[in-house]
Amino acid sequence: MPVCPNCNYEYVKGITFCPDCHQALVQEDLYVKPEDWTEENWVVAFTSNQEYEVEMLKDNLDGAGITSTILSQKDRNFPSSGDFSVVKLMVKKEDLHDALSFIQTVLNSPDKDQPDAE
Ligand SMILES: [Zn+2]
Repeated sequence: MPVCPNCNYEYVKGITFCPDCHQALVQEDLYVKPEDWTEENWVVAFTSNQEYEVEMLKDNLDGAGITSTILSQKDRNFPSSGDFSVVKLMVKKEDLHDALSFIQTVLNSPDKDQPDAE
């Protein structure tokens, strides 16, 4: 089932673009899922096409004691050119509130050690 990488809304087969975000939809089964994956327990806390940004956030969450896992596409057979791919940072559902506020803090920090994303 195609899914919008931006808003995570699921679409029916045949739809290729999210009308809200104008993003190319991805096939959910293209994502590599962790061993103990269960849809009920993991929720998306952050998405980016900058893998380093997601890894940076995961490191920060690890440091804060919040379990997270990175979901990246194993296949990049996109119709679009370039190396477009979307990386998702997943957290346990019970940690979502803490994770979201923590991510906001990290992203808004003037000390963040990364260039501004375009
Ligand atoms: Zn969307």
